[in-house]
Amino acid sequence: MDVAVTTSYHAEGSPYPDEAPVSQALFDRAQAIVPGGVNSPVRAFRAVGGTPRFMARGAGPWLFDADGRRYVDLVCSWGPLIHGHAHPEIVAAIQSAAAHGTSFGTPTAGEVDLAEEIVRRTPVEQVRLVNSGTEATMTAIRLARGYTGRSKIVKFAGCYHGHVDALLAAAGSGVATLGLPDSPGVTGAAASETIVLPYNDPAAVEAVFAEQGADIAAIITEAAAGNMGVVAPRDGFNQRLAEIAHRHGALLIVDEVMTGFRVSAGGWAGLEPVDADLFTYGKVMGGGLPAAAFGGRAEIMSRLAPAGPVYQAGTLSGNPLACAAGLASLRLADDAVYKRLDELSATVAALASDALTDAGVPHRLSFAGNMFSIFFTPDDVVDYDTAKTQDGAAFKAFFHEMLRRGVYLPPSAFESWFVSTALDDAALETIGAALPAAARAAAAAGDKA
Ligand SMILES: *Cc1c(COP(=O)(O)O)cnc(C)c1O
Repeated sequence: MDVAVTTSYHAEGSPYPDEAPVSQALFDRAQAIVPGGVNSPVRAFRAVGGTPRFMARGAGPWLFDADGRRYVDLVCSWGPLIHGHAHPEIVAAIQSAAAHGTSFGTPTAGEVDLAEEIVRRTPVEQVRLVNSGTEATMTAIRLARGYTGRSKIVKFAGCYHGHVDALLAAAGSGVATLGLPDSPGVTGAAASETIVLPYNDPAAVEAVFAEQGADIAAIITEAAAGNMGVVAPRDGFNQRLAEIAHRHGALLIVDEVMTGFRVSAGGWAGLEPVDADLFTYGKVMGGGLPAAAFGGRAEIMSRLAPAGPVYQAGTLSGNPLACAAGLASLRLADDAVYKRLDELSATVAALASDALTDAGVPHRLSFAGNMFSIFFTPDDVVDYDTAKTQDGAAFKAFFHEMLRRGVYLPPSAFESWFVSTALDDAALETIGAALPAAARAAAAAGDKA
């Protein structure tokens, strides 16, 4: 759809109206035929209310919605777009791949190139490409079970690993946003094999392994939690998990779907090495197309079919367009890009925190590398329980005031903010200009709560 772009609102200093008639009309049509009108729950604005914006176009740091309004994008497709929207080299790579055919169901050179790039950047020796982060964690767990001959999995409350049955317990992110206790449709048998522990609490992990260690196949953890808002692991927490798992003959799966290739060239493992057995990747490695991966030591990975007995497959796995986009995105991501992402996230976070402080809004700024979120609470956030002390009303008011002033934030207080290297002076000025009013709105709403 072609849209006329309205930018004059901000030039005149007046905010966009709350009504978004074209988005609303599309949402009405969608709700009639798509459950909740969206293809992934967090898009639906349930936590903040109002009309979800249907986006028509992206360019660099900007999103343009169907009503022709322009926003600075601080969601970046929930993480993948470290170079911003429609980067010319990524677009060219996709166009060139598409012109040669979109899918063959055979091996291709692009898959080898992308796999080599991942292996070069990370601790993994072998990697298998899949289509989504969910597939990556699902298969990593199957592989851990197949390798150890055990069934139980330890996960942490507030960590999200995709919508895998066994991992939907206390799963943060969309589940937290919607306030769902657990998902119907996940069988008791699947849920009973999952042990949920508080994040950042190694003593709880020791205690569970002391009792059930012989039945536990793996611990799975986000490399740094980003789906209950951003909560970094305490110093040494991840390595402690590796030690506990290995002492009991279990594996450690470190989920880098969000952190991978965003927080450093090698993901979180590039910032804080860890003796994990399996890693999962997604988001950034697809360059905005569906691609994900899991990998680890060759000894474990070689148990996968066709080398070994643990089955896994995918019609579109290693798709040529996705591999081309992912490879182009990773090849652009040199040291200068990571330095710039770090600087920009520090800048945006400081702007937001200063505005909230000026308005007297209690908050905590929480970083994991260049991922960050702002918790609307005066308390330190170290795990899911403390993340839930947030003032939802204050966040909601803050979110809508930012949206009116042309800044697109994640529509939930339980999500990371994501920057891209495309953020330029104009984008930063838009953010800076929006923040004081948004902070005042948060203060007003927080007082009422
Ligand atoms: C996004 C995410 C997933 C799921 O990836 P999808 O591609 O949405 O299936 C898994 N783990 C983490 C840590 C994520 O952030």
